[in-house]
Amino acid sequence: MTENSRTKILYIEDDFASRQLVQRVLHSRGYTVYLADDGLEGITVAREKEPQLILMDINLPNMDGREITTRLRSLPNFSSVPIVALTANNSPGSRKLALAAGCTGFLTKPIDVATFPRRVKEYLEGHQEPLSADERSEHLQRHVQNIVERLEEKVRELEQVNHRLRELDSLKSDFILLVSHELRTPLTLVHGYAHLLQEHLNRSDAIPVSDLTHIAAGLSAGTDRMQEVIGEIISVSRIASGKLDISLGPVRLEHVIADLQSQFQEVCLARRLNLHVSNLNHLPLIEGDGKQIKMAISHVIGNAIKYTPDKGHIYIVGRVLNDAVDLIIKDTGIGIPVSEQHFIFDQFYALGAIEHHSTSKSAFQGGGLGLGLAIAKGIVEAHSGRIWVESERRDPDDPPGSTFNILLPIKQAQK
Ligand code: ADP
Repeated sequence: MTENSRTKILYIEDDFASRQLVQRVLHSRGYTVYLADDGLEGITVAREKEPQLILMDINLPNMDGREITTRLRSLPNFSSVPIVALTANNSPGSRKLALAAGCTGFLTKPIDVATFPRRVKEYLEGHQEPLSADERSEHLQRHVQNIVERLEEKVRELEQVNHRLRELDSLKSDFILLVSHELRTPLTLVHGYAHLLQEHLNRSDAIPVSDLTHIAAGLSAGTDRMQEVIGEIISVSRIASGKLDISLGPVRLEHVIADLQSQFQEVCLARRLNLHVSNLNHLPLIEGDGKQIKMAISHVIGNAIKYTPDKGHIYIVGRVLNDAVDLIIKDTGIGIPVSEQHFIFDQFYALGAIEHHSTSKSAFQGGGLGLGLAIAKGIVEAHSGRIWVESERRDPDDPPGSTFNILLPIKQAQK
């Protein structure tokens, strides 16, 4: 056991390389060294280990080294323990400020390996750097002002965070209402058809095939919609928790769009919407998860249909931009206010009143859960792509239209 081995030193420092160097140098002299990478952890370790000396970095995240020193000085066991500032900032003002905050001494980084152990020993033996009473009071005042300014900054930050949390909380409450609304409609349908079936069975008469077909179609439409709503909630929660599984393979966007075109054909016919798909066979194969990409594009086309008045037009074109494919979906719909364009990709963001949230997913302005674009964005970003919208304003009476761009890299970077 060396003469220093009972001496405990705590080093509070956020920089890994500095922590390692100081630890190695002091360790080689036999000291027991404890490390903390931020001030709050430093206070906890100091209380637990009761070191004989503390080395204190000044520029620390959250609370800085001077503030931590002042805090430590107020604790019963630390009123006279040497606390030595160890900082890259060696201006005279910085030194005096550290001493006024309660530091015993001031050393600069990077440390001089040859002299550092000797300096540490001097502080352990009681060396204290001088500061005149006038200088102390002047710098103490500055120190207090700095603390109050930082406090103000923190309070403002907290207020903002609190505001955002309250907003999210209210969005979530709206969302719960929406989900119940969206599920209740198909549930009523399923309930109605199940009841009808039960009645037939109770009468124990033969059920005509046409009635059975009708009931089966109704039940299946209801359960499909419920499955879709639940699927959207699961997708968005996977995206939010970063657990979206992407299985890469070659994707031909021309085929994806052709599939979606036939998927939306019926609703386009019913609402006399014109879906114009330009020739996409010049687009290269892209690397991605075909199913997920289809889901992302489907939400964007679904919205174009939902927010375009009957007889309107939707255009789908594609082009190659550097090493990515840019798919453009342009509609002649009601448009999106510029101020809202950033938020529509957020979870739960459904612009407009809840009463809009209608029975039909494809009816004009029939609302959804406000998850479609969040899902689309999550999928596109999981492919290192980008999605954005351009629109002049919202005006159902004189629809300005919206244009969505989905940019997908042709090749995914190796992870
Ligand atoms: P929702 O389920 O409400 O459609 P989305 O996340 O798909 O949710 O869209 C969010 C909001 O963005 C919608 O409520 C709508 O107000 C607006 N929006 C999205 N696409 C369009 C579009 N093509 N035209 C006009 N508004 C749109």
